[in-house]
Formats: sequence, structure tokens, C-alpha cells
Amino acid sequence: MSQIETRATALALYPEDSREAAALLKQAVPLMVKHNIAPNPVHYALWYTYSKGEDSELNRHLDRVVRDFDGFPPESATRLFRDYIIRDELEEARAGQQQAINLVDDMHRDVSRSVEGSLDFQSSLGRCIEMLEAPANERLPDILSELQHSTQLMQTQQERFLSQLSSAQNEIKSLRSKLERAQLAATLDGLTELLNRSAFTRLLEQALGNRAQGVALVMLDIDHFKQFNDQYGHPLGDRVLKHVAQVLRGALPAHATAARYGGEEFCVILEHCADLESAVVFAEQLRMKVQSLRIKARGDGKVLDTITASFGVAFAHPGEQPDNLLTRADDALYQAKRTGRNRVHC
Ligand code: GH3
Ligand code: MG
Ligand code: MG
Repeated sequence: MSQIETRATALALYPEDSREAAALLKQAVPLMVKHNIAPNPVHYALWYTYSKGEDSELNRHLDRVVRDFDGFPPESATRLFRDYIIRDELEEARAGQQQAINLVDDMHRDVSRSVEGSLDFQSSLGRCIEMLEAPANERLPDILSELQHSTQLMQTQQERFLSQLSSAQNEIKSLRSKLERAQLAATLDGLTELLNRSAFTRLLEQALGNRAQGVALVMLDIDHFKQFNDQYGHPLGDRVLKHVAQVLRGALPAHATAARYGGEEFCVILEHCADLESAVVFAEQLRMKVQSLRIKARGDGKVLDTITASFGVAFAHPGEQPDNLLTRADDALYQAKRTGRNRVHC
């Protein structure tokens, strides 16, 4: 408690104004004289409070003291002054003191713990220093080798983990490329490596779904192929199919895709196609390239024969379904066959 607060508390014990205080003092002083009590602040305070008459217990004590003793024993005055005049302040002081004690106890406990920890650390540090200072110490090599062993174990485990991780990564890479190859294989025709029929159908649906572009379909079928197979054999027939696929691949404009529709039939989807005429022009170029192919014997490279193909072309109407466009292209192809083969019909 600060000095100003102490003074304020002490003044609160005497709320009387100066006139009332003077009147009380006029009563107290004659009593003190009567009982032969020395004039000092403690005595004044006690008899002033006696005159106020507010604390009957104090008054009884004072009456008993002046009755039992000749004079006013200093120890009685001090005890009464402490118990009745500055009682509350003493309580506060005691409470404050207890708080301080508790606080110091807590701090002591914390510091003790900290010191204990520090002592432990110091002693283990001391042991280490002793070991380091005494190279002859027998345990030191053991401790170091133990440490080295643990470090090696950790390193081995980490290396093992890294190697497992690396083989897992390789496994994933290999699986991914297998999957990519499988996905690609699922869309390609095995013989010609053009799109197969199902992939072609999906692509045609997508192309027709995009209303912003013109789509044309070119369908071609090799003429009299059964006859060719019969004459030269199936393997050479296969080679012809591959040659035709190569011709298609080499002739494709931008945004065009070729597919093997089935047997000796092929299709080309022309996306971003301006009109039917440009599709027919493209088909005519293809027809001439197929016609220009020279089928040669494997051994001596002698030209055995030539082939031709018939073409049907259709340009998609707005919102036309794939089946309908396919039918129109097939009908045109049929017309090309019917009207003499090796020609383009639309
Ligand atoms: P057209 O001019 O009317 O089309 O007569 P075409 O003989 O070509 O037609 P057809 O439908 O009568 O015969 C198709 C032939 O295509 C029969 C079959 O042997 C042959 N063919 C279909 N797929 C293959 C294949 O993968 N390899 C080989 N070598 N021949 C095939
Ligand atoms: Mg045919
Ligand atoms: Mg056919």
C-alpha cells in the first residue's frame, strides 16, 4: 500500500470535522489527566476513540486497564492501539503479507525446479567434459561407437526408404506408360494404325456437336479387293491396306482425321471444312493418289498391280446426327460403285 493510500485509510478512521474533533478531544484530555496517562499520539488516539463511544469493546478494555493498573502500561496501550485503532490496516497488511509469501513460495518452487534441471544438465555436461578431458576413459570409445552405430542405422534406414521410394516412382512411370500405350491401342486399328471404328464414331459425334464448324465426311472403299486377295494372297492384301492408310495420312489437311471403318473401307472426317466442293476436291486428290500406288513384289520389287478406290462424300447439315451423315456418305459411295468405281460421288 502506498503512503498516500495509508494516510487516506487512517483519515477514514476519523471522519469528524475539526469542531467535532475538538469537542471529542476536550472530553479525552480530562480523562487522560484523571488516569495519569502520558500525552502521546497512541494514548490520544485511544482516548479520543473512547470519547466517541462507538466501540464498546474498546471502552470496556480501557475501563478495565485504568481500574486494574495504576497508570497505563505501555504494552497494553500498544496492544489496544493495534487491535482497535489500526485493526483493519493490520488485516490488510497481513493479507498482503500472505500474498507476498505465496508468491515467493511459487517463485521458489519454479526456481527450484529450474535449478534442479540446470543441475542435472550441469552434471551431465560435467560428465561429458570429464570424458572428453580424459581420453583414457574406457567408456568414451563405447559411447562414440554407439552413437556412430545409431547414426549409421538411421542413414541405412533412410537410404532404404529412398531406394523404395525410387523403385515405387519407376513402377508408377512404367505403369503410366503401359496405360498410355493401352489407351492408345484401344483407339487405333492394329493393322493400319489409323483410328479404329469406335474411336472414329466418338470423334464424329464430337465434331458434329460443335455447331460452329463445317464437317464433311469422305468414305472410300477399295475396288474389287476380294479379287485382289484371291489373286495375290491375304498378306499382300494387308500390305495394300497399309499403303492406303499411308496415303491417307500423308494427304490429310489440317483438322482432318482418318480412320479404318472396317475391312477395306476407310473414312476421313474433315473438320472446319468450308463446303461440299472442297471436300470433293480433297476426295478427288485421294482417289488419284490411291490410283497411283504401285503394288510391288517383296523380293525383286517388281510392280505387280495397281488398285483403285471409290469415294462417297457428304457435307453435314446443321444439327445432323452421325448415323445420318454416315448413311449419306455410304449412299454416295454406293453410287460411285454403281456408276463404274474409281470415282468420287456426293
Ligand atoms: P467392291 O469393289 O464392290 O468393293 O468389291 P470388293 O471385292 O472390294 O468387296 P467385297 O465386300 O466383296 O470384298 C471385300 C474384301 O476385302 C473381302 C476381304 O477378303 C477383304 N478384306 C477385308 N478385310 C481385310 C483385311 O484385313 N485384310 C485383307 N487382306 N483383306 C481384307
Ligand atoms: Mg471393296
Ligand atoms: Mg467393302
